[in-house]
Amino acid sequence: MVDYGINFWSDNDFIIEDGQVKINYKTKPAIIDIVKKVREEGYRGPLLLRFPHLIKKQVDKIFTHFETSIKQYHYKGQFKAVFPLKVNQFPNFVLPLVELSQNRCYGLEAGSKAELIIAMAYTNKGSPITVNGFKDKEMISLGFIAANMGHEITLTIEGLNELETIIEVAEEMGKPCPNIGLRIRLHSSGIGIWAKSGGINSKFGLTSTELLEGIRLLEKHKLIEKFTMIHFHIGSQISDISPLKKAMREAGNIYAELRKMGAKNLKSVNIGGGLAVEYTQHEGSPNRNYTLDEFAGDVVFSLKEIAKNKKEPEPDIYIESGRYIAASHALLVAPVLELFSQEYDEKALHLKDKNPQLIEELNELYNTVNEKYAIEYLHDSLDHMESLLTLFDLGYIDLQDRSNTEILVHLIIKKVIKILKHKNHSDIIRIQEQVQERYLLNCSFFQSLPDYWGLEQSFPVMPLDRLNKRPTRSASLWDITCDSDGEIGFDLNKPLFLHDVDVTTEEYFLGFFLVGAYQEVLGMRHNLFTHPTELSVEFEEDGTHSVTNLLEAQTILDVLDDLDYDTKEIERRLKQRIEDSELIDDETRKEVLGQLYVMLSENGYLRTITNGERK
Ligand code: PLP
Repeated sequence: MVDYGINFWSDNDFIIEDGQVKINYKTKPAIIDIVKKVREEGYRGPLLLRFPHLIKKQVDKIFTHFETSIKQYHYKGQFKAVFPLKVNQFPNFVLPLVELSQNRCYGLEAGSKAELIIAMAYTNKGSPITVNGFKDKEMISLGFIAANMGHEITLTIEGLNELETIIEVAEEMGKPCPNIGLRIRLHSSGIGIWAKSGGINSKFGLTSTELLEGIRLLEKHKLIEKFTMIHFHIGSQISDISPLKKAMREAGNIYAELRKMGAKNLKSVNIGGGLAVEYTQHEGSPNRNYTLDEFAGDVVFSLKEIAKNKKEPEPDIYIESGRYIAASHALLVAPVLELFSQEYDEKALHLKDKNPQLIEELNELYNTVNEKYAIEYLHDSLDHMESLLTLFDLGYIDLQDRSNTEILVHLIIKKVIKILKHKNHSDIIRIQEQVQERYLLNCSFFQSLPDYWGLEQSFPVMPLDRLNKRPTRSASLWDITCDSDGEIGFDLNKPLFLHDVDVTTEEYFLGFFLVGAYQEVLGMRHNLFTHPTELSVEFEEDGTHSVTNLLEAQTILDVLDDLDYDTKEIERRLKQRIEDSELIDDETRKEVLGQLYVMLSENGYLRTITNGERK
């Protein structure tokens, strides 16, 4: 059976049982059952499912691995962590995160004023807040307000001008002053599509010369005792551990040197994020070459060695990995609306009394194809199709002949795939690239998988059921935006096979896993498709689960309101146009208006398919 590489990417969070994907926790509910139940309540379109227990699992994992390494190496510094809000600021993620990590020294990282407000409101008392990114005087003042609230906050300086502003605000606002961190610009950078954050040409951080100047400024203004942390980040999703090791040596030595220069309260090294998530569905193409064990061990060991050699105390270690914490907690479920070759049905075939010779032959191939000659007939049919299409271009056959050609060839392909589905025939695999089925999904890739659109980052995708049946169709996926970029094409190197289903009579859902990091907030409203309806699946102690935090995707009127349309004016204009129209009789006017109001109050994803069934 095809398992969609679940053992590579799922970390045992999801399993396949009884032909369904199940949440591998407590009573192990099938995801499809949860989806169907929510849909029965009238929620249509794509659904974003959140699993808070997986947030806790990831937080616990990071802490236990670092704490184990700390024990193993008799390391004297502590381990602390912050969640970078930019990875996911949605309340139904952040609030459980904060609640479930109460017993840990786990805080929030902010990169903007709005994120800082979230951090100030929700960070558990005693847990750290770090502030990165460019800051103006207002944002620095917010940091002082946070310190006044009792937060353990560190403002990380990205450039000397920010330090000058801190000095200015400190003079104006007095104590308590937030801790100060300096972001260092390392020569080392990560590897991969997100490696730009590191390296000497990166957007952020102080060069060695600027660091020295920074220390002089801090000393001059008697703020050196507030300088407690150095920070670096070599990029998200580090695929190879070696740049991290190099960065650790570079940062560790900078830490020791700065202490020797008089930064005696410098006691923390913040290693940023970078811990990679395994997204791969295919053997032999892993996204990372290390385990969390190795990652934690390397960080702790290298800092220990440097501290020992330079005779400085072992610093506290901060980590800001967010992708690793958030990715697994969210799953996008998209209903399949249509299979494009479904129209190539025997019922649609209208053979004439007298057909062109090649069409007669195609019909013959279709009726007589068998296992022995399957591949040969397939080749013949593709060959015939080429010739018939040329004949059409030259004006020798008509549109009905062309339609019959397309239908017969698709029928032959389907029959051959069915006959040979248990064999791994290389011809079949090759031919499947040419004869992909296009699955239309009720979602927007721009909104829900923006990293696929922008960076070709793929996410594990699989059907939620029928997993005890062999999928036979090589699949390319289309979303419902009017944009040809809204497509995940079939890739022979990472092939996706799906089931041949008749969606007019049965439901078929695809799940995109590991979409909890970055996708939600980076998602864009192309064609005005908005954040999908979301819900959380929460488990009780006794193992039962319930759906909570159900939040429907925005209504059409709300979407327009967000764009600053005057929605009252829109409603008034629509009503007026219906009233003025001579094409609608008086009896139906009210009905049409009613229909229109219902649509305005629903979300904008698709709801109907051809036979009127609501999707
Ligand atoms: N810290 C900083 C400064 C970052 O720029 C980022 C993101 O690139 C992170 C943390 C989060 O890293 P990750 O995506 O590996 O979780």
